[in-house]
Amino acid sequence: MATTHDQRPTTRIGYGFDSHEFQPGIPLKIGGITLIHDKGLGGHSDGDVLLHAITDALLGAVAAPDIGALFPPSDPKWKGADSTVFLREALKRVHGAGYAVANIDASLILAAPKIGPHAAAIRVRTAQLLGVRADCVGLKAKTPEGLNLENAAVAHVVVLLEKRRNPKKLRKKTRKKTKRL
Ligand code: MG
Repeated sequence: MATTHDQRPTTRIGYGFDSHEFQPGIPLKIGGITLIHDKGLGGHSDGDVLLHAITDALLGAVAAPDIGALFPPSDPKWKGADSTVFLREALKRVHGAGYAVANIDASLILAAPKIGPHAAAIRVRTAQLLGVRADCVGLKAKTPEGLNLENAAVAHVVVLLEKRRNPKKLRKKTRKKTKRL
């Protein structure tokens, strides 16, 4: 017999965008990895532009409130926050809705540093945070040709979610996984 649970869409798509300005004297965090660079990304949290875009893509996929609504910059609680906290909350909502991440695809747009040498580490870390295989995380880096964005980093992310038949079991598995991180 069909239940309300089974009437949910089999797949859902989410899209996230974020941008941050480079500022001297702070660490550069992208995709949960700290990169060596003379400037970092400013913001109320750790400025991890990629994790913020992924978080919004996850939240959007399950029609949840966005990152700014859940973690308002006006709240001093999130000052300097590790962006993995935001991503974990979004993932919890995805799993709570009975879905799992199938894959994500991301584009990063920034003039420097070069992402190529760090792409593998970023994909592995991001996959670990999402509980998917590294080959389910696409990452492209582009320079901002003609965009006059030399002092900013931009991230665009799409995520595909798949419906899980046994959401309770999945939530248990996720808790175990996130404990290990
Ligand atoms: Mg942001």
